This record gives sequence, structure tokens and C-alpha cells, in this order.
Amino acid sequence: MSRVMLITGASRGIGAATARLAAQQGYALCLNYHQRADAANAVLDQVRGLGVTAIAVQADVADETQVLHMFEAIDREFGRLDVLVNNAGMLEQQMRLEQMDAARWTRVLGANVIGSFLCAREAIKRMSTRHGGRGGAIVNLSSVAARLGAPGEYIDYAAAKGAIDSMTRGLAKEVASEGIRVNAVRPGVIHTDIHAAGGEPDRVERVKASVPMGRGGQAEEIAEAILWLASEQASYTSGALLDVAGGR
Ligand code: NAD
Repeated sequence: MSRVMLITGASRGIGAATARLAAQQGYALCLNYHQRADAANAVLDQVRGLGVTAIAVQADVADETQVLHMFEAIDREFGRLDVLVNNAGMLEQQMRLEQMDAARWTRVLGANVIGSFLCAREAIKRMSTRHGGRGGAIVNLSSVAARLGAPGEYIDYAAAKGAIDSMTRGLAKEVASEGIRVNAVRPGVIHTDIHAAGGEPDRVERVKASVPMGRGGQAEEIAEAILWLASEQASYTSGALLDVAGGR
């Protein structure tokens, strides 16, 4: 049977690009989406058109009950899980830290960090050789913001991605002997819709001057890194934080 990959936040952007590349490589897919069933179904049609088995499952990854239901759907449909791509993430309107309220931090940490934790936990229960699984790979989506800090923009988001980096390093060690590799990709500034939520849809144009390659990245360029980390070609790579940021 094909290797099974769960991609969270797969209805657009980097998640959708990862789904299309994974389908080309023959993965069976669970495409998680939050709100946009129409967009998720369009990606579902594309990957099924490439001949792979795929399902779309709605879940807010920050909601524990919804995450448990999503993994039950994977159990029913596939009975196995080989790769988790913790791609779902979000940021909010750019502002200075002193203007932020606690509810915003709860939302941002919820979607980016709690969601990645909950999905990793459920994935490990199914992958770990300690629980009778075959092993597997987890790829988390961090950001160069984790080391740049995003001052004046979204320190909450940068802090959330810093937490992803720490979780990646620690979890990689915790499950290394159980056949599971855990890595993170840290994209630079990529052409997707995420920047509109920050109030700066043309962010890539402003920031590209600070990118040594002089351009923003494409979602497909991030998908390539994700698929490599998920693959057997990366069999000795775990705990890595891979910057895919045009040299930034
Ligand atoms: P995007 O906004 O196009 O896609 C993010 C996806 O995550 C959306 O489909 C959204 O619905 C989903 N999502 C958000 N909250 C969710 C939740 N609670 N439950 C389920 N799904 C949820 O953005 P993107 O650029 O494709 O982002 C993908 C990942 O890459 C994110 O983790 C993001 O932080 C990270 N990233 C992006 C950039 C960039 O410049 N685009 C840079 C660094 C890191």
C-alpha cells in the first residue's frame, strides 16, 4: 500500500503545493482543512486526478476533539500513517507587542503550536515502533521569523515558530529510537495568502530586497524541501531546522 501522508492546512498555499507534489510521488493523502471546503475539494480533485487515494477532513488543529476525530478518519480510511506535515499556521494583523492582547497570543499559539503538538502526539501513537507502528516522519513548518523575531510586525508569531523549533529538536531525540524522524522547514518570505492576514498582501515585494537571492519563494520550492525531509533520502536527518529562504 502507498505511504500515507497527513497535511494540515492543505487547502491552499504551501499545504496545497505539498499535496500536489506528494501525489506526484505516489503518497495516499489526508488533506486537512479548517474552513474552506470548496478550496480543499479543489485540491482533492487535483490529487485524485494524479491517481492517488485521498480524503479531505475538516478540523481546527487547535481543537483537541476535532484533531482526534480527524485521526479516527485516517484510521478508518487508511489504517496507517507514515508522514505528518504540520503545515497549518497563521498570523494576525501587524502591530507592536504593547498593542497585543492575551486573546491574540492564545489564538496564534493555538493554531501554530498547540495544533502541531496535538497532531504530532496522535501521529506518534500510530507511527512509533514502541506502539507496534512502522516508524515515520514528521515535518513541522517553522519560519525564519523564529530567528529574526519579527519586531513591529508579529512577535507572537515569531515566538510560536520558536516553540516549533524547540519542539522539533526535543521530539526528534525523544522518538529517534522508535523509527520516527522529526524535522522542520523554515521558509523565508513566500508568495502565499498568509501575508494578507498581516494587513500587507504585497509583503513579498517589500521584503525581497532583504533576500540575498532578490526574490520571494514559491510554495512549490517549500514543498520540495518538505518532501525530501519526509522521504527515505533523508533517512539520517532528524532534529534539523532547514532554512528555505533564498539565503536570508
Ligand atoms: P496560507 O495562509 O496560505 O495557508 C495556511 C493554511 O493553514 C490555510 O489553509 C489555513 O486555513 C490553515 N490553518 C490556519 N489555522 C488553522 C487551524 N487552526 N486549523 C487548521 N488549519 C488551519 O499560508 P502558507 O504560507 O501556505 O503557510 C503554510 C505554513 O508555512 C504556515 O505554518 C506558515 O506559518 C508557514 N510559513 C509561511 C511563510 C510565508 O511567507 N508564506 C513563511 C514562513 C512560514
